[in-house]
Amino acid sequence: MTQPTGAPLMLFDSLTRSTRTFAPIDPDMARVYSCGPTVYDFAHLGNLRAYVFTDTLRRVLNWKGWPVNHVINITDVGHLTSDADAGDDKMEAAAARQNRTIWDIAAFYTDAFKADLAALNIRTPTIWSVATDHIQDMIAFAREIEAHGASYELDSGLYFDTSKVPDYGRLAGARGDEVVGRIAEVEGKRNPADFALWRRSADGEQRQMEWLSPWGPGAPGWHLECSVMSMKYLGAQFDIHTGGIDHREIHHCNEIAQNQAFTGSEKSGANFWMHNNFLVDRGGKMSKSKGGFATLASVIAKGVHPLAYRLLCLSAHYRSELEFSPEALAAALTRLGRLVLAVEQVRAQVGDPDWLPLVAESEKSKGAAFAYQRSVIEAGLSAPAAKLIDQFDEALSADLMVPQALPLIEQAATAKAIPAEERLRLVATMDLALGLNLLATRRIDLRQRPDDATASEDEIEAAIAERQAARAAKDFAESDRIRDELAAKGVQVMDGAGDMRWDWMLSL
Ligand code: AMP
Ligand code: ZN
Repeated sequence: MTQPTGAPLMLFDSLTRSTRTFAPIDPDMARVYSCGPTVYDFAHLGNLRAYVFTDTLRRVLNWKGWPVNHVINITDVGHLTSDADAGDDKMEAAAARQNRTIWDIAAFYTDAFKADLAALNIRTPTIWSVATDHIQDMIAFAREIEAHGASYELDSGLYFDTSKVPDYGRLAGARGDEVVGRIAEVEGKRNPADFALWRRSADGEQRQMEWLSPWGPGAPGWHLECSVMSMKYLGAQFDIHTGGIDHREIHHCNEIAQNQAFTGSEKSGANFWMHNNFLVDRGGKMSKSKGGFATLASVIAKGVHPLAYRLLCLSAHYRSELEFSPEALAAALTRLGRLVLAVEQVRAQVGDPDWLPLVAESEKSKGAAFAYQRSVIEAGLSAPAAKLIDQFDEALSADLMVPQALPLIEQAATAKAIPAEERLRLVATMDLALGLNLLATRRIDLRQRPDDATASEDEIEAAIAERQAARAAKDFAESDRIRDELAAKGVQVMDGAGDMRWDWMLSL
């Protein structure tokens, strides 16, 4: 597949600050690297927005016809509590706080992160690359930078000399010393923006995680791993590098500098640098370092189905801030419920189509089957249905304008002018790109039991049956009494809503 289907895909590149037509370097495979989590704590909802974004990007690339080789790293070493070279190592600090080994902490939070991604229907990357599996690669990479004369040694380790690369900080929109938030905390640094490639353990200090190196025992600087692992798995030049907007200022500037020093080329590594904006709450950034963040598990515990959070993310453009509030989350759940119900009703009319098993296929790995699935599912659609697909494709192609694509799938599910069988096909093909799992989710599946619920499902069903009997006997006082009793238990009764006769009330 060398030609994209539909409109040309336009993507915003943070480095050139321009929206450009995307085409992969290798026409048969797009290569994408996403900065992964530092596994010292649970991911918060803001972090997860970054991965809903990368998954959407990846699905859109697939939708356009390109399989995607996608790498996400797991940072289990090296990330300090500050992006500059100061503060404790986040992993060491978490291990000390919880009285566990770093390896334990890393394994536990890596599993939790993967579970969050699965709950959000985010597809597994083709490669998970773990920083501590690549220490020797990092040492070799740093040696090469040293051989190119772009580093210097201090007592505290090996530092990158940012004056040795052209245009340092271009990605951040600043040069060298101007880079935001930089102070020379480390004695002897030549330029404030210089950063550690290797942090030598202080005399007498024994870190839980340390390795021998030409610069003494210690641990790699955080920025090194992404240069090393992206190059190892995707090549010196690959298509897209993603991360949250905070990484644009320091982490990615440093990655680019390392790549330039290593290769001796001014190229940055990635052809497109793409950054998602932040999920924000009223109090400011939901930074997990500041505490007080919400996790996916905590909102699930309150009765919110995780796909409602995915939908909330999709309702804002990835380059806009997204205001997080309980109301917004509840509204996303309602919106998802309506869409799922509409799909369920279409399905009730047309039954299971022959192509249904194909949809599950799309969830597999690189997404090479997308083009085939689309061609089968979309074959012979009528003109009004095909027009909706074109509009949907145009929205996605305009730098992933997903907020404009969402109303189109809603329209597709309900458009009276389009036969039900075609509506189901529209939903299926569009959902390949949106990942809301609409063909495998029923309205009743969205009913998420809150952790503090007291009533059992059997008890509720029994009360509902009694209430129906009371209504049939026109005993409305009794029917109201039962409804109020259920409401006191956090259960909402819906009249005339088919199978879904009750739901949990949200207590966000
Ligand atoms: P970390 O585990 O801190 O390295 O963060 C993982 C990812 O989440 C990175 O790509 C960050 O840029 C991103 N990120 C952190 N906070 C937010 C936020 N509030 N909204 C969106 N993305 C975020
Ligand atoms: Zn990174």
